[in-house]
Amino acid sequence: MRIDLLTLFPEACDRMMAESIIGRARQRGILDLRFHQIRDYTENRQKQVDDYPYGGGMGMVMFAQPIADCFRAVCEDLGHRPHLIYLSPQGKTLTQQRARELAQLPDLCLLCGHYEGVDERVLDALVDEQISIGDYVLTGGELPALVLTDCVARMIPGVLSDEQCFTEESHFSSLLEYPQYTRPAVWEGREVPEVLLTGHHANIAAWRRQQSLLRTLKHRPDMLEHAELTAKETAFLEEQKQLLADETSPI
Ligand code: SAM
Repeated sequence: MRIDLLTLFPEACDRMMAESIIGRARQRGILDLRFHQIRDYTENRQKQVDDYPYGGGMGMVMFAQPIADCFRAVCEDLGHRPHLIYLSPQGKTLTQQRARELAQLPDLCLLCGHYEGVDERVLDALVDEQISIGDYVLTGGELPALVLTDCVARMIPGVLSDEQCFTEESHFSSLLEYPQYTRPAVWEGREVPEVLLTGHHANIAAWRRQQSLLRTLKHRPDMLEHAELTAKETAFLEEQKQLLADETSPI
């Protein structure tokens, strides 16, 4: 998969994506990340990329022209128009499901805003989708674009050693993941749950599923609405819900 980022900080973004799993996927050619400097497409001698907002107000707004030209250069290089996403606190909140859908595309282009944002006309003219990484405001779209890239990239076949690495993780099937442990079996007096040391795969799988259900109920009960549960699991959760309610109700 190829992902092109349009940004004012290409080197910083590139460095962030050079390490670990993503870095190795890039080296192996499974993931082709390209970082484009929007400033290179300005038409003024000062290489200015922003100006004061019409109508007054705080901050600076990024010009439409260099962004549009930068995107068109990517289209020309690719030979077609990629799906263009503007990272914005006004977009739809990123979900695992949306990232999974985006990972099916052959390529993506991500636009990172800065300052007060970008001239609305370039959004109207070119952007296919706006994505937010949460209900808060950051100084630039670089971190959100890298979050989106990482989240999408790990679902591209071959990036992780096995699909199970992400299908069993939190959010994939509307459940949080079970707790994980590694050596030693006892750390500062705290023991690893016994079942994990038995080597009994069926029992371990059943324990993990139960832990997953319990964690989701405790920390993110809203997610259970979309989870695929058996009748037995639904009954188990009802029972646990009652126990939790009894624990928290004043006597
Ligand atoms: N003035 C804008 C507003 O109120 O909606 C916020 C601009 S923000 C300071 C600068 C840039 O950071 C945005 O153009 C966007 O690219 C990025 N950004 C900030 N918060 C974000 C978030 N939660 N999700 C995605 N992108 C974000």
